[in-house]
Amino acid sequence: MEKVNIPEIFAEDVFTDAVMQQRLPKSIYKQFKKSIEEGKDLDLATADVIANEIREWAIGKGATHFAHLFQPLTGVTAEKQDSFITAPKADGSVLTAFSGKELIKGEPDGSSFPSGGLRATFEARGYTVWDTTSPVFVRHDAAGTTLLIPTAFYSYNGEALDQKAPLLRSMQVISDSSIKLLRLFGNTTATRVAPSVGAEQEYFLVDEAIFLKRKDLIYAGRTLFGAAAPKGQELDDHYFGTIRQRVAGFMKDVNEELWKAGVTSKTQHNEVAPAQHEIAPIYANANVAVDQNQVVMQTLKRIACRHDMKCLLHEKPFAGVNGSGKHNNWSLVTDKGENLLEPGSTPHENKQFLLVLACIIKAVDKYAGLLRESAADPGNDHRLGANEAPPAIISIFLGSQLEDIIDQYVASGSASTSIEGGVLATGSSALRDISKDATDRNRTSPFAFTGNKFEFRMVGSRDSIASPNIVLNTIVAEAFDDASERLSNAEDFDAAVDALIAEYAKAHKRIIFNGDGYSDEWVVEAEKRGLPNLKTMVDATEVLGDADVIALFNKYGVLSPTELKAREEVKYENYGKVINIEALTMIDMATKQIIPAVIKYTKSLADTVLAVKAAGCDAAVQAGILTEVSELLKETKAALAALEQVTAEAAQQEEGKVQARFYNEVVFKAMDALRAPVDKLEMIVDKEAWPMPSYGDLLFEV
Ligand code: ADP
Ligand code: MG
Repeated sequence: MEKVNIPEIFAEDVFTDAVMQQRLPKSIYKQFKKSIEEGKDLDLATADVIANEIREWAIGKGATHFAHLFQPLTGVTAEKQDSFITAPKADGSVLTAFSGKELIKGEPDGSSFPSGGLRATFEARGYTVWDTTSPVFVRHDAAGTTLLIPTAFYSYNGEALDQKAPLLRSMQVISDSSIKLLRLFGNTTATRVAPSVGAEQEYFLVDEAIFLKRKDLIYAGRTLFGAAAPKGQELDDHYFGTIRQRVAGFMKDVNEELWKAGVTSKTQHNEVAPAQHEIAPIYANANVAVDQNQVVMQTLKRIACRHDMKCLLHEKPFAGVNGSGKHNNWSLVTDKGENLLEPGSTPHENKQFLLVLACIIKAVDKYAGLLRESAADPGNDHRLGANEAPPAIISIFLGSQLEDIIDQYVASGSASTSIEGGVLATGSSALRDISKDATDRNRTSPFAFTGNKFEFRMVGSRDSIASPNIVLNTIVAEAFDDASERLSNAEDFDAAVDALIAEYAKAHKRIIFNGDGYSDEWVVEAEKRGLPNLKTMVDATEVLGDADVIALFNKYGVLSPTELKAREEVKYENYGKVINIEALTMIDMATKQIIPAVIKYTKSLADTVLAVKAAGCDAAVQAGILTEVSELLKETKAALAALEQVTAEAAQQEEGKVQARFYNEVVFKAMDALRAPVDKLEMIVDKEAWPMPSYGDLLFEV
């Protein structure tokens, strides 16, 4: 077997800092670094030199094209490729070129991207701007090799039309606010604080040939019909189970591609549902982590095809088994390497950590709806609140040790002890006893403290992780600023810190919940506590119109009221479009595949009944099945007509919130009503006669 040497191949497709230092003249490299540190523009002459080196490096890697890679409000990336070719010279020969201007700025005619009204088609101009804080890299695929330049995307009037611009703004905001707070604690050396983010990515793999026989998977990314297979995930035999050879070969290729692309692919395992898997890289700076998660998603899809499989990133490809999410691990780290979320071994003595923690608790409680919204996408509606994912209610899991400290603050205004982990006795002399963590894990909490980071588990598997990080950075920045203001003139700083922690703990204790987030009791309890329970994407999107949310983003310059309004519109629009595609796909499948197949089957049943009777035998069983199938067929036809009608009505609704609500409350229900009889039919009709592969074929044939 061919050997893989990770250090040797790692980042070979990335124009890394090391490559840059090696290739660029010292003065140019210094100027480039300075422009990043000071947030200043690069002059064109410098950019020209850099672009030229990047071109030579990329061509050395086989690149023929370059593209600005950006993240419009679609959840995925977009790019327009240009080759390096120049106009022919007089003798007919051509050269390659790549200018500083082309590196720094692009002008895609992207009038078709969602803009929530920010960009009418008559003012289609938009700009992509090079993000110098995320490295350029080359990608090898069937199109050849392409140089990719991470960029932010703006409208002609300078409004952000993407995920990256507000993310970078929010990173500046959280850095400034963190530094202000750190100064009060006597930290004079840190100059920047950046969120570190590690995204665990779940996905399904199915056989490509089987996938291609399902129109719902092709158009909607999820099954819209499908009776449960006899076996699901009940035996827990897939979770962490032995990885099947076909999947193992896929994972090997994915890892190699990711390592070459500079993504620190680290963990891989089978997930709970059959055919479900997970991959996680080592955490990185938030901006890089967001970009790399897009690379991970694209790589999973591309490599799956190479193995005659399809990678499903939809949040809920199959009813009845777990859906897929993304865990967004988030912490704050100074440029000197200090993690502000590191509690140390005696957290009750770590006042800076406790205040940071109290601020986060306050922020999450105050903006629970906004945080939930940041994970809203149409597919995620099937997960949040269902029994495998976190509920749609935001709460915080702290673990027994930190919860105990918070309780001490609530009771007495300070804390004097930290619960210790103790020892786990293995009960065997062959196994050494081990020390235990002070806190158990909790898998049902949407926002869980896990050692030295918070893990936000609501994010959907196909969605960008930009939004949750934009929200976390901004809401925590506001809480830090509030705290800094309160502490800046304190006479007795330590006492003031204790008082503030106690105040926040008391005021926002309701958001802390260490119990089972999947239970019905929690839903009741959360309501008593006054916590929002935004069950659907449409409910959640309304939060973007709240006055305090508009004010927050505006105050910090992360999103202007206009930009925010546009995002709200895009979300409503997106919801309606997705449900519309699903409804039309169901109509198509029911009309052209399912009903004709069932009619044919009833014909063969009827023939059988007649033949059996003619032979002088009792055809009661055959006739019984025929009656049952015919009844369900009737139900199907009626439900189909109803779905057709409401889908047509939906198109007539006023665009935006009203239309999204209609899709959510009317069309979505009509889809369920059509699915029910069809799934029953699938259980009765001869498998040979059923017009598409079953759940069993999809989930167990990889
Ligand atoms: P889990 O405990 O959730 O099973 P891991 O400990 O493997 O998972 O971590 C999950 C993700 O969290 C990984 O991407 C990991 O690199 C990332 N991570 C670990 N520590 C931090 C941190 N301090 N800040 C942000 N992300 C982190
Ligand atoms: Mg995790």
